[in-house]
Order: sequence, then C-alpha cells, then structure tokens
Amino acid sequence: MGNDKGFSRGVVYEKAANSRADCLHKLSTDLVRRFDTLCLEDLNVKGMMANDRLARHVGQSGWAMFGAMLAYKAEWNGKHVRTIGRFEPSSRLCYCGYYNHALTPSDREWDCPECGRQHVPVVLAANNIRRFAYRKPNTGRDTPGEPVEVSA
Ligand SMILES: [Zn+2]
Repeated sequence: MGNDKGFSRGVVYEKAANSRADCLHKLSTDLVRRFDTLCLEDLNVKGMMANDRLARHVGQSGWAMFGAMLAYKAEWNGKHVRTIGRFEPSSRLCYCGYYNHALTPSDREWDCPECGRQHVPVVLAANNIRRFAYRKPNTGRDTPGEPVEVSA
C-alpha cells in the first residue's frame, strides 16, 4: 500500500513537472518567434532556493529552465537574448534616478517622492531590464532617463 501511494505521488509529481516543462516550451517558442531580442534579468536562483519562502515560487516557475530554453531557441533561430546582472535594481530604480530602499516584495505599487511617478514594480522592472540591457557597455555614463522604445 505504502509503495503504491509513493508510486502514485511520484507519478503526480512527474506529470506536474512534464506539464510545467511543456508550458515553458510553448511560451519560450512563442516569445522567440515573436521577438528578435529578449531581455532577461539573471535572477539569483540558487540564492533564492536557499530561502524557503521563495524556493517554492522559483522552483515551480522553473525560471532557470525557462532561461535556458530561451537561450538555445534564440540561438537556433538567429535571435538574441540580453541578460542584465542579478544586482541591477530593476524594480526599485525610478527613471528620475531615485532608488526605493524601502520596497518590499509584497508592495504592489509605489510613488516616487522625487518626481511623483507612480510605479507598479513588475512593470518598472520590465522597463528597467530593457533599459539596462540596451545600455552601452563600459561607458560609465548610464544616466537615468525615460525608458527608450526599442525597435525589433
Ligand atoms: Zn522618480
């Protein structure tokens, strides 16, 4: 009985893992088809897995697997992946240069006290990831500014 239960549980986990991988394959294929360049943040997955609360979310999302899929599919299709460093303050840095030290993961929005802009952290992070990914390397002159529309 015990073995049957263990076997069933293993099958359920395997099905969930296969379903997740299938979903990530579909999403990564779709993104590579639709865009010439994809900008990613190099999240500290190992560091997050050491944190119990984050481990479930990161483990379930399969972020590392997803990043790898995007990278090889982009290469196969002559597309590009640009990755920014894991310590870039993507959700905390306003376009005016203000850095929000008080932001917590549960904050759903914040207002910049310097320029008054209202931010949704995930949207700000996406814009900043794109902005940082297209920053000219080694100029040391990345000044804050509006996000730039990048043509495909
Ligand atoms: Zn601001």
